[in-house]
Amino acid sequence: MSDETSMREYVAALHAALAAQRLAPWDVEAAALATKRLLTAPHGDLARWLAAFSRLPAVPAPVGWQQDTVRIGEPGQLPVAQAEALKEALLGLMPWRKGPFEFFGVKIDTEWRSDWKWQRVQPHLAPLAGRRVLDVGCGSGYHCWRMLGEGAGFVLGIDPTPLFLLQFLAVRRYQPQVPVWFAPLRLEELSQGVEAFDTVFSMGVLYHRRSPLDHLAELKAALRPGGQLVLETLVIEGDVQQVLVPEERYAAMRNVWFLPSSAMLLRWLERSGFRDARVVDEGVTSLEEQRSTPWMRFQSLADFLDPQDPSRTREGYPAPRRAVLLAEKP
Ligand code: SAH
Repeated sequence: MSDETSMREYVAALHAALAAQRLAPWDVEAAALATKRLLTAPHGDLARWLAAFSRLPAVPAPVGWQQDTVRIGEPGQLPVAQAEALKEALLGLMPWRKGPFEFFGVKIDTEWRSDWKWQRVQPHLAPLAGRRVLDVGCGSGYHCWRMLGEGAGFVLGIDPTPLFLLQFLAVRRYQPQVPVWFAPLRLEELSQGVEAFDTVFSMGVLYHRRSPLDHLAELKAALRPGGQLVLETLVIEGDVQQVLVPEERYAAMRNVWFLPSSAMLLRWLERSGFRDARVVDEGVTSLEEQRSTPWMRFQSLADFLDPQDPSRTREGYPAPRRAVLLAEKP
């Protein structure tokens, strides 16, 4: 089967799955955006990533998503030739940022210990069992698998980055029946007002938005009344009047806009019409949680901090500090 055929089939299946969930008009919109990004105007590296993806061994394999490492297949399950093809496929899908994963005994030590974030978030959630969940900015989809592990009835991850879609599909191809989907798009590219999801996650996205209040409005419009918002983002220490807008870069990132205090973030949520907004976790990101690894060989957090004073970024701002907030839609 050609790479193009497999992408066409995925787009058609995504469309059908969203339609079956009565998510119109997102079914049509997601299929159109996916067609554009995967078929008609693809990213320059997509053909290379697809070639790597197509080398993943086509063997039946169980997938475990109820533990810190999302695990596909068993160590030693593959004959040598397939094990080599697997390694090449996984290397071809680098950089791996969000995980960890293990494929047939090959451990993918990702840039981020995303399992640590899940440990900070999961205990506070309204139980996900049976719920319809949206994960905005899902990266590789690591947390989507953990949400399924908590019994979610349907999970839609969205992220515009096609490499992350292929990392997601590298897991999904082993469990094609699961109700977990990835659409390659940005939340603001979809119509507002589906009001369909029981829980909406936005983790690591708000500070990338030039217009954080619009982002909160879009998240709210995706939730059903009574649904729960889970918001995780960079914050600064300070009172309800404090927000940092970096002059240019923040921790080497160009696309960082608003870093509010968590008190100010609570106010943004209240002004946006959420109720019961609360901070359930807050702390500085450690150098163990985000670092370069053999699977993500570019610079990472340690390189983005001031070598003289790791409590500062190299631009002189407070080092990354993250908060997890929950709120409900009335
Ligand atoms: N949620 C994961 C990944 C965070 S990284 C976690 O918390 O570990 C942020 C991701 O958001 C990136 O993969 C980026 O591609 C994606 N992203 C940025 N802006 C977005 C938007 N407007 N809509 C959807 N995804 C977005």
